[in-house]
Amino acid sequence: MGVPARHHTRSRTNKRRSHMALKPLNFIKCSHCKEMIMPHRVCPFCGYYKEKEVIDVLKGLSKKEKKLKQKEIEKKD
Ligand SMILES: [Zn+2]
Repeated sequence: MGVPARHHTRSRTNKRRSHMALKPLNFIKCSHCKEMIMPHRVCPFCGYYKEKEVIDVLKGLSKKEKKLKQKEIEKKD
């Protein structure tokens, strides 16, 4: 098995790792509810993508939750 002939300095290791830093996430405003969302994804708050409703976010919620969510969406319009 190959064995390194020379050791790498801390400086060299750190220079290599200088490119590994994570970049901050890029958020955009949802065109329908103005919530900050990830680009190229269906909005998890209102279920819209490209001005069209793709998923029904009210499905599976109780009557009370539905009322609250509906109010929240309408407030932003
Ligand atoms: Zn939205």
